[in-house]
Amino acid sequence: MRRRFRRRLLGWYRKHARDLPWRHTRDPYHILVSEMMLQQTQVDRVLPKYEEWIRKYPSLETLASARPAAVDRAWRPLGYNARPRRLHTIAREVMRRYDGELPSDERTLRSFKGIGAYTAGAIRSFAFGHRAPIVDTNVARVLFRVFVGRGDRTSTPLKKYLWSLSAVLLPRRHVFDFNQALMDIGATVCVARRPRCPVCPMSPICEAYPFDPDLEHGSG
Ligand code: SF4
Repeated sequence: MRRRFRRRLLGWYRKHARDLPWRHTRDPYHILVSEMMLQQTQVDRVLPKYEEWIRKYPSLETLASARPAAVDRAWRPLGYNARPRRLHTIAREVMRRYDGELPSDERTLRSFKGIGAYTAGAIRSFAFGHRAPIVDTNVARVLFRVFVGRGDRTSTPLKKYLWSLSAVLLPRRHVFDFNQALMDIGATVCVARRPRCPVCPMSPICEAYPFDPDLEHGSG
């Protein structure tokens, strides 16, 4: 089942991957910016802002030396204003304590305010190629439907199970593509309401197929 899941997911991704600018970089700072921007914000809104931000603050160093008011202003259209302050603080800390290099280990990454388990996994797998699992709302929904199929998606034991599942499913190679693919299929096919089962590569192995919303509890 795990191998079939991986093969189906990666095969689908090769044909249907979204072309997003942060997929053309392995720069840890650029990945960090994209992940902070994507927290609670739709991709379409992030796209123009991400390009603009990277032009204005192309490195941790340029961001660290910027004035807080200018950083706030540059972020403002995205809302949730704790995020630019956290990003700015991370940039300053990394310059001061880590010689300008964003650390790659989970513990240090998670010691920064604003970087939780998901964001640490995204930075580690996308920027450093580590076999680090990720589970956000989209990924949790896909894993739940394919491997569990029915019941309450919000319980703590279930969340833990989905994290462990995300870890054991990771391939030895192509970790970047695998994690990006998980997010893409959750964002474009296995969406919260009305998942597109007829075009989904997982339908032959999915526990929730054919999808019945009455068998699933929990939002997102
Ligand atoms: S078959 Fe349907 S419910 Fe299962 S993963 Fe695909 S879209 Fe989601």
